[in-house]
Amino acid sequence: MTLVIAAMREGEKETDYEKNIVQAKGMTKIPLASRLANFISATSLELEEMNQQLADMNEQLRQSSMTDGLTGLYNRKEIQFRIGAGLDYIQERDFSVIMLDIDNFKQVNDTFGHQEGDNVIVGLAKILQDSRVLGVSSFSAGRWGGEEFMLLLPECDISHAKEIAESIRQRFAQTSFEQAHFQTVSIGVTQAAERDTMDTLCVRVDEALYAAKQTGKNKVVVS
Ligand code: GH3
Ligand code: MG
Ligand code: MG
Repeated sequence: MTLVIAAMREGEKETDYEKNIVQAKGMTKIPLASRLANFISATSLELEEMNQQLADMNEQLRQSSMTDGLTGLYNRKEIQFRIGAGLDYIQERDFSVIMLDIDNFKQVNDTFGHQEGDNVIVGLAKILQDSRVLGVSSFSAGRWGGEEFMLLLPECDISHAKEIAESIRQRFAQTSFEQAHFQTVSIGVTQAAERDTMDTLCVRVDEALYAAKQTGKNKVVVS
């Protein structure tokens, strides 16, 4: 459809200008005011769509800035932020922390290759995201680094957190990987106290994990 737009030229009379219209060849004549209104309405719609796309992209950026690419779990920075939040509310609700490290993982990589190693990491991540295994709906699972993970459990005391850790350990030990078959994980558990800082809490849970490694691996140690 060809549109002919007539614009007011210098010297034209007002009456002539009023006659100026947008013509669709052989079709309905549309007054300039209507055309402008249509244009503004179409532009507003376009702007609305672009705003929505920008909001979606912002949300995607926000999500990717706090998650780990391989597993989709929270990254270390986000877990640290959430530990801080857990400690902020420590007077009002229990807060327990679980630290996990896959056993003899270097051997998995060396024997079956890095890709199968990644599969094992993703396998444990899936268990840490599975609220049926955990039996709680409020938790934050994160990748602390390499083959180390953190699970934050607001509203869980130490005995509940220990039960959850034991379910994770068992479920992982029963998970079969295509080449690496059955692997194990060692786990440290601790409950935050009022006097705790991020550092004291992380050191304590790390010590519990270390004790699990030192006393045979594939076990849960509470501190
Ligand atoms: P331990 O039972 O004492 O924990 O021994 P380990 O072999 O699990 O621990 P070690 O620290 O010796 O090895 C961890 C390995 O994890 C070394 C590193 O190359 C590997 N690794 C770290 N990040 C990744 C990853 O994203 N993918 C894979 N496939 N391997 C990784
Ligand atoms: Mg490690
Ligand atoms: Mg390890």
